[in-house]
Amino acid sequence: MLGFASAATLLGGCSSGSSSGRDAFSGGPTSVPPADRRSTDELLSRWGNGSASRRPSEARAGDWQPLPDSGFRGDAPPFAGLVRRANWSKGNPVPNLMDRMLPIDKVTIHHDGMSTFTSTSQAAAAARIESIRRAHRGRNWGDIGYHFLIDPSGRVWEGRPLAWQGAHVKDNNEGNIGICMLGNYEEQAVSPAQANALDQFLATTVRSYRISRARVYTHQEFNPTACPGRSLQARMDTIRTSRNSALASL
Ligand SMILES: [Zn+2]
Repeated sequence: MLGFASAATLLGGCSSGSSSGRDAFSGGPTSVPPADRRSTDELLSRWGNGSASRRPSEARAGDWQPLPDSGFRGDAPPFAGLVRRANWSKGNPVPNLMDRMLPIDKVTIHHDGMSTFTSTSQAAAAARIESIRRAHRGRNWGDIGYHFLIDPSGRVWEGRPLAWQGAHVKDNNEGNIGICMLGNYEEQAVSPAQANALDQFLATTVRSYRISRARVYTHQEFNPTACPGRSLQARMDTIRTSRNSALASL
């Protein structure tokens, strides 16, 4: 049986949050400044339906639209086997509800904090990620709050495109890549496959974006929260310090 605290967080991931930036708006489109609506209009006119200039690779359902003038397309780090969002998401990001990401300067680890989850099924992971996305959109956020998610078998999934600031650490989302481990690590152990994937992905990420290893955090190091759970917090301490980890060996 789920206790009260578990039931309260059954949907929507960890008690992640956004108290600044556009994900924090709760009043709907009328609360978005006019300048932001204009930039979205420009984006849609350039990349919108039927545009001859739209690149075919960006036209897939479930894919995202790049910002028109940043020169940064939010590309994920080059990580073998990364599951792109088109493989799980049933909805697109909403640009005018999000802020731009740049510059990237830190990473924060979370768990979803819902029920325990040990399935190695790709379909089960996809369904769980989509349920988190729907819950976050239900808070009027522009997309799922996390940039990447890792399932119990070690698959790494693309969440919110990196062109957009995430919504996962209250007051500290600026430049902060959010990585969420599917499951509840107050109540379950981190699997070896998952720990290895997290370590390898963190090493690739900090190398790709030139992030200091000292700026790899967990959610509870910013905010009073149990996230990412005791077992994952302990694993992160190991990944950040062990000579056997890819991250600490960089
Ligand atoms: Zn969290």
